[in-house]
Amino acid sequence: MTNLIVSSWIPVRSTSGIEQISFQELLISDAPYHLALPRDDMELATLQLLVSLVQVVAQPPSAAALRQRAQSPMSEAEYGELIEGYADSFDLQHSSKPFMQVTDPKAKETTPIQKLFIGLPEGNNHAFFNDPGEITLVCGSCAAIALFNQASNAPGFSGKHKAGLRGGGKLNTFLSGKDLRETLWLNVLHSGAAKELLPDADNDVLCWESPIAAGERITAQKIGLRRGLFWQPLRLKLEATELDAPVSCGHCGLNTETAYSGFWCEADFKFEVQGLWPHPHSPRCWNIKKQEREKERYLSFNQLTPGWTQLNQYALSYETAKDGNVRAPVIDQYEDVFLDQSHDRMVLLVGGYANKQAAILERRHELFSMPMEWQSNKGFLERAINAAIAVKTALRGRAYYFGKETGAQIHEQAERTYYQQTESLVHELLKSFSNRKEGRLVAESFLDQCKGLARDIFEELSRPYQHSPEGLKQYAIDKRSLNSGLRKIEL
Ligand SMILES: [Zn+2]
Repeated sequence: MTNLIVSSWIPVRSTSGIEQISFQELLISDAPYHLALPRDDMELATLQLLVSLVQVVAQPPSAAALRQRAQSPMSEAEYGELIEGYADSFDLQHSSKPFMQVTDPKAKETTPIQKLFIGLPEGNNHAFFNDPGEITLVCGSCAAIALFNQASNAPGFSGKHKAGLRGGGKLNTFLSGKDLRETLWLNVLHSGAAKELLPDADNDVLCWESPIAAGERITAQKIGLRRGLFWQPLRLKLEATELDAPVSCGHCGLNTETAYSGFWCEADFKFEVQGLWPHPHSPRCWNIKKQEREKERYLSFNQLTPGWTQLNQYALSYETAKDGNVRAPVIDQYEDVFLDQSHDRMVLLVGGYANKQAAILERRHELFSMPMEWQSNKGFLERAINAAIAVKTALRGRAYYFGKETGAQIHEQAERTYYQQTESLVHELLKSFSNRKEGRLVAESFLDQCKGLARDIFEELSRPYQHSPEGLKQYAIDKRSLNSGLRKIEL
């Protein structure tokens, strides 16, 4: 059995190897634990689940209390007080209110457990090229994490199944601390920040204790933080078997005596959420048309471009004449509560899935480390990123024209190469802000490198076509145009 408050279920790496520890051990110990799961997306899902769990049972009453929590472990007595009354709420096999499940889904047959592991092919997700049936039995820990991840981050199983509160395939941003315990607290909102985020919330009961009703119309702003973090879009129930002898879990490999093999899930369970819920881990963006905001949405990865092209959206909140963005509320809070205290840098963890309807196309997991001086250089960071994207546009455009005249299909290759090679330049840019106070110089040198890269890539890819007189002539024209295009790009 797995009870998230009581059992040892958190897979961590410690000085003594990989083990499963309890929630209590994690919060009261000063051992430097780190999550250890076989897949990066499941690891991030575990972090999100733990952050949400801490938010529910141990929301700090003030910014000062939050800082204190991040600094040192709580005592066993404090832990005991906080979790009082919660053990019943996070039990995967509770008889009347099982964690993130219902007791009576209307389903004729069970679905294999593998379907809960996003991207595995039990259904139509073939993105990761595993064989069907690879995961047949899992332990309670993996079942709980997969259940939470599916409900929070996956697209719907099909048109008959609702996706999570944000829809599927939205990215999450978190702060990363020196170990797991500190990381959790960096991502938990204190009461004041929570109240500010959702001033009109009037229902904060966990979904499995007060289920969403079929056909219900729900105003997003009325959903409380705890209810929203553990939103339960499906009516499903896990199928568990108690075994005489332990088996090895098909996901994490640890031995378990309770094996989860599948789940019952109701089709056509419908309800409607109106508006966008301000998810604490999600940046949101919008377009501006005729000075009005439109198409407000949660940020997703753009499948064709690397994560850094969206760095401004993870790290900053801004509005221009064309579009706008707010970063995730936990990032906002970090700047208010932690920076300038004991933290001299901001390490962003970004992860999620890119999907097309029910199919998962890819999963991503990225880390951006920003030094303290980033604070005073925000404007330069924003402009440097925008300029680097503009360089890409100029390069691709010129490569396309060159191809039109010479038959060279090089524009896509040019874009891909540019993206690959700028990745390390961006991380270098972030680091350089800490070495030199002069943000403008750092950003200008970065931009010069991006331009140099664009020139090199154009040169390289067009070279095989420069042997013919027409190709050589066209090369000279486009090289000139590229240079003049690049000159116009400034910070
Ligand atoms: Zn497992």
